[in-house]
Amino acid sequence: MKKLYLKNINQAIKIAQNNVYFDRLSKIYDTLPTGRCFGCTKCCMESVHTHFIEFLNIFHYLRENRQLYEKIFPQIIQYYFLEMVKKEHCPFLDEEGRCTIYEVRPLVCRMFGHLTEKEYEESYKNVLHQNIEIMKVFKNKYKIMLPENVVNYKIDYCRNFEVDKQMTKDQRQTLIDQMFTMESAFFMRGLITEDFIDTGLVSWFVYTVFDIEEAGDLRVKIMKEYLESGYSESLEEIMKKIKVCF
Ligand code: SF4
Ligand code: SF4
Repeated sequence: MKKLYLKNINQAIKIAQNNVYFDRLSKIYDTLPTGRCFGCTKCCMESVHTHFIEFLNIFHYLRENRQLYEKIFPQIIQYYFLEMVKKEHCPFLDEEGRCTIYEVRPLVCRMFGHLTEKEYEESYKNVLHQNIEIMKVFKNKYKIMLPENVVNYKIDYCRNFEVDKQMTKDQRQTLIDQMFTMESAFFMRGLITEDFIDTGLVSWFVYTVFDIEEAGDLRVKIMKEYLESGYSESLEEIMKKIKVCF
């Protein structure tokens, strides 16, 4: 299974509700120490890794906020297809610089600012390494040269976030492990498969309308068109037809 079918999402949401997983998720989020953020949105520049239980929570929230979902869904799709050729802010950020899903935003967004500068720089090194590997794959397999400003993009370490209590690496890992424990219930029932491991927030939504492989193939085509002319006809066609999956 390489697509997120609505019937599976609905079944997964029912399981999450029956097993109070959404409450457990809120408790995990509440475990994070409080802090003060200046809301500059400089850290909202990527599609962050998101656990399946978090995606379900966000999907459920957006379904209850239909107008918002219909408004941001095209932005989500566009972001996915151009993500590797054009650096843009997260599609969940609105024109006023507010996170439209703030109440249900993923753990990674909540943890930004909770890392020490040393930990943050280490983590950036890994991200950069992964980006360089992806760049090589695109060059060798698809003859696509990813722009350097996208490959090397760095969200600077935030010195403005004032955290009340620093979390240790082990404490953060415990929260992530708790997520995985909940997630295993969905794997066991075949509602998601290993194809969905390491999925970013934006991609989860894309997979509600496209198969993983179909989305990947289309992305290559769109990226090529965009890099050649700054415009993609294929993307325009998709945008005309795309509909929110409720
Ligand atoms: S955590 Fe830092 S970078 Fe992110 S919005 Fe807050 S002040 Fe800005
Ligand atoms: S989901 Fe919200 S908090 Fe997270 S990166 Fe996007 S806009 Fe920022």
